[in-house]
Amino acid sequence: LGTPAVEALQPDDVRRLLPRPGQVAHKYTRGVVGVRAGSGTYPGAALLAVSGAASGLAGMVRYVGPEHVADTVRTLHPEVVGAGRVQAWVVGPGGGDDAGGMLRDARADGVPVVVDADALRHVDGPLPGCVLTPHAGELAGMLDVPREDVEAAPLQHARDAADRWGCVVLLKGHHTLVADPDGRVRVTTTGVPWLATAGAGDVLAGLIGALLAAGLEPYDAASVGSWLHGAAATEAADGGPLTASRVAVQIPQVVRETLADR
Ligand code: AMP
Ligand code: MG
Repeated sequence: LGTPAVEALQPDDVRRLLPRPGQVAHKYTRGVVGVRAGSGTYPGAALLAVSGAASGLAGMVRYVGPEHVADTVRTLHPEVVGAGRVQAWVVGPGGGDDAGGMLRDARADGVPVVVDADALRHVDGPLPGCVLTPHAGELAGMLDVPREDVEAAPLQHARDAADRWGCVVLLKGHHTLVADPDGRVRVTTTGVPWLATAGAGDVLAGLIGALLAAGLEPYDAASVGSWLHGAAATEAADGGPLTASRVAVQIPQVVRETLADR
């Protein structure tokens, strides 16, 4: 990528940054992450975002969305609870026409928000403390430039977006870039092309939300989340094909190995 300011997280960095419960921890001190996602058309996106959030790195996961989606969320993830206070929100996957309202409601709580998928179309001003997680097409729409321009110069566009919205921008793709508004950029070195599969981004958004809720700074939450997501994909794929659900269930194992590997 040719720019000295671009850094790659190493396993040692991830180990240092990973949240881990102290002896006297309880679920609230570990952080509560809320997910506002899903719609009648895209219920699965909500399930995948919740599965990323529910990988055990935060103390509790809340889900807010259509009742029939919430029923399925509770069936698949019985530990997930309903509305209440959170330390971070994940907003947008599968939100469809409700995504604007989801973003507005999440912002009203004054906590960090991971803004993904349909919610990205409703970003209309600075979002300090938040994390935007577009792929190239979504970022192109936000910046009103052709997708090809973003693909040709991803670093420049990620930086421009971080500067414009005053928050961390994670640009997904073959190389995922995490740009901080202060100018730092991290590139994700984990992952496999098999990860280019429907729903993979929803899992990532949920995972980053959990790390934010656990107290990581937005730049660290985004880059550690992307590193773990890529590592989980590589392990789960094991040289073959992958589903987004499978990535999510691999995350605790990657965390275990990263903590143990010293
Ligand atoms: P989304 O487009 O929201 O479903 O997110 C797609 C996910 O797959 C992101 O985490 C991307 O970084 C990842 N991804 C997409 N294409 C590739 C690729 N060619 N190699 C590795 N990861 C990819
Ligand atoms: Mg997506």
